[in-house]
Amino acid sequence: MSRVFNFSAGPAMLPKEVLEEAAFEMLDYNGSGMSVMEMSHRSSLFEDILTTAQNDLRELLNIPDNYKILFLQGGASLQFSMIPMNLMKHKVADYIITGQWAKKAYEEALTYGTVNAIASSADDNFSYIPDCSNLPISEDADYVYICENNTIYGTKFHRLPNTKGKPLVADVSSCFLSEPMDISNYGIVYGGVQKNVGPAGVVIVIIREDLITEDVLPYTPTMMKYHIHEKANSLYNTPPAYGIYICGKVFKWLKKRGGLEKVKQYNEEKANILYSFLDESNLFTGTARKDSRSLMNVPFITGNKDLDKKFIEEATKQGFVNLKGHRSVGGMRASIYNAMPMEGVASLVSFMKDFEKNN
Ligand SMILES: *Cc1c(COP(=O)(O)O)cnc(C)c1O
Repeated sequence: MSRVFNFSAGPAMLPKEVLEEAAFEMLDYNGSGMSVMEMSHRSSLFEDILTTAQNDLRELLNIPDNYKILFLQGGASLQFSMIPMNLMKHKVADYIITGQWAKKAYEEALTYGTVNAIASSADDNFSYIPDCSNLPISEDADYVYICENNTIYGTKFHRLPNTKGKPLVADVSSCFLSEPMDISNYGIVYGGVQKNVGPAGVVIVIIREDLITEDVLPYTPTMMKYHIHEKANSLYNTPPAYGIYICGKVFKWLKKRGGLEKVKQYNEEKANILYSFLDESNLFTGTARKDSRSLMNVPFITGNKDLDKKFIEEATKQGFVNLKGHRSVGGMRASIYNAMPMEGVASLVSFMKDFEKNN
């Protein structure tokens, strides 16, 4: 058995230790004689898995008491409708468009009210984060929406927008738990876990208590009401139990590594190996503007489509897989989430150096 360096944007690499532990527990979880997949979600064993996961996540992100943690289904994309359905009391929201995921969320919200695109970086193919220090926030906006890390374009908000007192809603799917964040700056932080935290099928929603109300838009399905899930502690119906169990193991893994400050240092060091090479290379160029660069997703090009193709083919043969960039940017993208070891990025860069010499 040999493992590859998987640079996929998602579903992405998980820590080897976590997979090994899960394999070890597959047939008999904790003396129960069954796997977590076969277990009642109402059992005390599963309740313990859920509570431990919630507590560990709260500790990792230092989540204040007035925020609830929900483990839901439907991926990040279902939140594109759940957010307006639950939050649009005045039927107005402001969106900052920094890429396709923000745009999709914006388009979905259009169904429910007046939605303003108050800033965008579409003019330069989303290669940067616009200045959001003094935007025309709508007087009666129910919230301001961002996609904090733009998976496709490799950009990240390094400073949060000034929302002028309106709740900030952030999609953090591709930067979740990659560094500490101050949750009190947000109304909602949410992310699909398949990028950086666990297996597809779980979305984590961290939501400020006062935003959970029964006053939602008409026709909001029961399954899409935050207050229903909050009241039931994410057990309104059968939750994505196995996914939550794996997320819980990843939380433990992050704690064992010393918490998110340490994880951030590691991620910075790791990303820097690739970025400093891109900055000095005569062949490869990073496509995101320097001041907006993501620690998690690194798109780059050679400027020659045939050479890009050749690079991806040769890299794949060497065990560096899923490096093909998103079709809207072209070229390559290395997603280097928490579970990608330093060694993976260092080996990729030495392969890139060889490729540059030979081409
Ligand atoms: C992948 C991704 C999504 C979509 O996630 P799904 O769980 O497939 O719906 C949304 N936002 C961002 C930032 C992503 O990277």
